[in-house]
Amino acid sequence: MALFKYIYLAGLAYRNKKILKCYRFLKESEKWQLDDLRQLQLERLKLLLSNAYANTDFYRKRFDECGFHPSYLSTLDDLKKLPVTEKEDVLANVSGIQINVPAEKMFFSETSGSTGRPLVFYRNQEWDAWHNASVMRGYSWHGVFPWERNGYLWGYNISFVKKLKVSFLDFLQNRFRLFSYESDGLDRFLSKLQKASYLNGYSSMIYEIAKRVNARGISSKFRLKMVKGTSEKIYDVYREEVQKAFGKPIVSEYGSAEGGIIAFECTQGNMHINMETVIVEEIDNEILVTNLVSTSFPIIRYRLGDYVKLGESGCSCGMAHPIIKEVTGRIGALIHGKTNTYPSLTLYYVFKNMASSHSVVLNYQAVQKTRGTLELLIESEVDEDGLKLINKEFNKYFKADLDVNIRTGVPRSNFNSKKKDFVSEID
Ligand SMILES: [Zn+2]
Repeated sequence: MALFKYIYLAGLAYRNKKILKCYRFLKESEKWQLDDLRQLQLERLKLLLSNAYANTDFYRKRFDECGFHPSYLSTLDDLKKLPVTEKEDVLANVSGIQINVPAEKMFFSETSGSTGRPLVFYRNQEWDAWHNASVMRGYSWHGVFPWERNGYLWGYNISFVKKLKVSFLDFLQNRFRLFSYESDGLDRFLSKLQKASYLNGYSSMIYEIAKRVNARGISSKFRLKMVKGTSEKIYDVYREEVQKAFGKPIVSEYGSAEGGIIAFECTQGNMHINMETVIVEEIDNEILVTNLVSTSFPIIRYRLGDYVKLGESGCSCGMAHPIIKEVTGRIGALIHGKTNTYPSLTLYYVFKNMASSHSVVLNYQAVQKTRGTLELLIESEVDEDGLKLINKEFNKYFKADLDVNIRTGVPRSNFNSKKKDFVSEID
């Protein structure tokens, strides 16, 4: 254990020396009262808006258009005077938003866009440090250190070369991952998991694993301190299955590349807003995030595309940070194959591969009406070879478990709901 602690800490120091400093700050501020936290937010917001105004064409223009100047900001409510930032605006203005922070290490960041076009930007060292420190703080609530042995459920079906690289990085982080759901891979994963401290990854994949554990009746073999789901909505069926399999609730980490860690679930089952790094607003049940540490790529009143329900502050864990009661959004809808289910994010991988390996960028929307079949609408016309490539990419992930019906040359106005890349009529 000590060995991995030192490898991990050395890795942290190599990646970003500021992480531990931020972590210590967060461990202090988690005891603060609400007023003090709000005061901190106001100070950070002033810096964020001034920086965005001074250094980005995009925000300066927007602030000017609504007659707002950062020096006018005197309360947190003043933030509401600014317009909402849509994903499309950001995607179309990346170079007008990106700020190069000289003398700081920059970290490449990528996230799926609403049309499968990825948003690519750079986080500076400060931002990266707050992000990692926020994750560490969340873990600390559950008695977990990030260097402890852990099972990791993330992208699967990757190439051999990538697998070697990933395995090495996994070794450094004392983690192991599932490469396939076939019984060999699954057996190996489950036997390693018996000696692990925590399990983390996509909620829908954790659910799959929990189902297999319960089906085999081996739940007594695990001693996990934390089971953490990310990136997707956690359905009630997931919770029941995971509790039964591991004797622990599935804990939710809610965040995004742009927004950072937005909330983390405490031991009392409440998702506390990470107030030190983010301001959360709710408008018509939709979440808007302002990332207070987004120095190099300001994220201000950004519509993430999730539906949320906010709660009050006050929790028996003692933290004053207000609560997100529920993320009711659709990020994590499931694609139902004939026998298995898949995270809808798999679509992102399919179209990311189309773009990166075949230089074919497509606007698409997938609609599922019945299990085992997917209707795929594509805006542009696609030739015979293009269709073959799309089928090949789908086949990598879904094999024969899913029939894909492709319709090309479909105008976007005919898409089901403009902002979603996956619409399910099954759940
Ligand atoms: Zn709590």
